[in-house]
Amino acid sequence: MKVLKFGGTSLGSVEGLSNVKTIVEQQREPVVIVVSAMSKITNKLVELAQAATEGDEACCDKLLESVYQRHYKMIGCVLDDKRTARAVRREIRHIVHDKLRAACRRLIDGGLDAKEAENVRNLIITSGEMMSSIMVSVMLHARLEVSTFFIKTHPTPEGDRVSEELTAALIVQRLRNRQEPVIIVQGFVAQDADTLATTTLGRGGSDYTAALIAAALDAKSLEIWTDVDGFMTADPRKSRHAKVIPNMTYGEAQEMCDAGAKVIYPPTIRPVALKNIPVWVKNTFNPMARGTRIADKRDSKLDDVSLTLDEQIKNEKQYKIQWD
Ligand code: ADP
Ligand code: ASP
Ligand code: MG
Repeated sequence: MKVLKFGGTSLGSVEGLSNVKTIVEQQREPVVIVVSAMSKITNKLVELAQAATEGDEACCDKLLESVYQRHYKMIGCVLDDKRTARAVRREIRHIVHDKLRAACRRLIDGGLDAKEAENVRNLIITSGEMMSSIMVSVMLHARLEVSTFFIKTHPTPEGDRVSEELTAALIVQRLRNRQEPVIIVQGFVAQDADTLATTTLGRGGSDYTAALIAAALDAKSLEIWTDVDGFMTADPRKSRHAKVIPNMTYGEAQEMCDAGAKVIYPPTIRPVALKNIPVWVKNTFNPMARGTRIADKRDSKLDDVSLTLDEQIKNEKQYKIQWD
C-alpha cells in the first residue's frame, strides 16, 4: 500500500481536484489519502480565531461566510450529482454556521482559561481539513477515517508533540488490513492523548500526518503531491534558476527542509527515514513529471542531470538567503 498526501493548492481549484481524482483512480494498490484544507482556508480560520478572541463579531461573520462560500462553490463544481452536492453542502453549512459559529461565540463571550481558549482555537483552525476531507471522500466515493482517533499528542514545554508509539499502534489498529481500496484521512489535526482536546501538528503539518501513517503501515512509498515539479534547488517563487532535484537522500532533504524549503514540513522526514520508505514529491498539476525521489541512497538511474546536488546548490549563489 501507499500513502498519498495532497496539499492545499491541489484541493483548492477545480483543475486540482479533478487531477486528484484521476491520480487516485489510477492507483493499482490500496492507498491512504491524506488531505490538507483547501488553499488559504487555514489562514482564514486563523484570522477567524483571532477575530473571535478580540471579540470582533462583524469580522467573524464575514470570515464564516467566506469560508462557507468557498466550499459551497467548489462542491457545485466537483460533485455532479445534485442531491449529493446538496447533502455535502448541508454538512459543510453545519460545520461552518453551527459548530464554528458556536466555537467563535465561546471565544467572544470570554471567561475561558488559557488552555480552554487554545483548545477552541485549535478546533477552529483544524476545521478546514474536516471540510476538505468530507468533500474529497464524497468525490472519490471513498471511506473517511477521522485522524483524531489515531494521531495523538502530548503537551511539552515546546508545544504539543506527537506521542509516536501510541500513534503508530493506533494507526495499525485503525488502518491496517482494511478492505477499502481508498481511505481518506485529514492531515494537520491531532488529539491530546489524555484530555482528548483537539491539537495540531503545526502549520504545514499534513505532510507529517502522512509520514506517520506511511511509517506505521510500512507503506511502499509516501507521495507528497503539491504544486511544483519536485523538490527544487531553491523556492521557484523566489528564484528563476530553481531546478528540480531528481534524487536526494533523507539527510539532504532534511537539511533543506530545516533551512526553510517549505515543500516538505521538516518533521516529515524522520519517521519515513527510520523505516526506509521512499518519498516522492510530485506535481498534481503536472503528474507526468517524474518528481523527486528521497531515499537512503541516491538512485543513480534517476541522476540524469549532470550536476550533483552539492554542485547545484553551489550554483544557486543566493541559496542561503532565499528561504525565509
Ligand atoms: P502544499 O499546499 O502542497 O503543502 P506548500 O505551499 O506547503 O504546498 O509547498 C509547496 C511550495 O513550496 C511551492 O509552491 C514552492 O513555492 C515552495 N518551495 C519552497 N522551497 C521549495 C523547494 N526547495 N522546492 C520546491 N518548492 C519549494
Ligand atoms: N492546512 C494546514 C496549514 O495550512 C496544514 C497543511 O496544509 O499541511 O498549515
Ligand atoms: Mg505544505
